Amino acid sequence: MIEKAFYDIQSAIPDHVVLVAVSKTKPEQLIKKLYDLGQKDFGENKVQELVRKHDQLPKDINWHMIGHLQTNKVKYIASFVSLIHAVDSLKLLKEIDKQAKKNHRVIDVLLQVHIAQEDTKFGLNQEELMEIVSYLDECKSVRCRGLMGMASFIEDKSQIQKEFSDLKQQFDEIKTNNFHEPSTFDILSMGMSGDFLLAIEEGSTMVRIGSSIFGERS
Ligand SMILES: *Cc1c(COP(=O)(O)O)cnc(C)c1O
Repeated sequence: MIEKAFYDIQSAIPDHVVLVAVSKTKPEQLIKKLYDLGQKDFGENKVQELVRKHDQLPKDINWHMIGHLQTNKVKYIASFVSLIHAVDSLKLLKEIDKQAKKNHRVIDVLLQVHIAQEDTKFGLNQEELMEIVSYLDECKSVRCRGLMGMASFIEDKSQIQKEFSDLKQQFDEIKTNNFHEPSTFDILSMGMSGDFLLAIEEGSTMVRIGSSIFGERS
C-alpha cells in the first residue's frame, strides 16, 4: 500500500526536513497518487524520463534531478527543473548557468560531494569542491543552495554516520566562509531509504527516498 508507506515515512521525518519522493522507473499514475496525498517534490535520475513525467503530470510538482547529469542534456530540463542535486564538475555548472540565462531564470543547484568509500560513485573531492565554490560568483544564473552526498552501501552504521557528519561539517564551513548571505546556502541533501534516519540525526535537511515509499525497483 503506497498510502501507508508514504504516511509512515512522512511521520518519521521532522517538519524541517524536505522529503523528495524518488519516483524513477515508477509510472505516472503512482506519482499522481502521491501528489493527491499532498506530496509535491519528486526526484528522477534520467533526463528523458524526467521530461516525459513533467509533461504528463501537474505543473506545480517540484522536479528534482538527483542523478548524474550530462552537460549536453541540461537544455532539456532547464526550463522547469526545480533543483539539480548532482553538480559534479565546473563544466556542468557553466552549462547550467548558460541554459538558465537562455530561459530567463535562476536554477537552484547542489554540489555533489564524494563521501563514500566506494570510488564508483560520482562526486567532487575536497579540492574540486573548493574550486567550484570559488567560481560560483561568476555564475549569476545559478544559485547554489547547498551540498548533496551519498553514503557507502554498507552495514557499518558508524562508518555511514561518519560520512554524513563529515559532509555536514563541510557544509557548515562553506556556509560560514563563502557566502555573504548564508541563508540561501541552506540545503543539505543526504539520506535514502536505508539511511535517512541516520542522515537526519547528522543534520540532513532533505532526504531522497524511493523504495521505502514506492517499493523495490525491478
Ligand atoms: C535512487 C536514488 C535514491 C533513492 O534510493 P532508495 O534507496 O530507493 O530510497 C536517492 N538518491 C539517489 C541519487 C538515487 O539515485
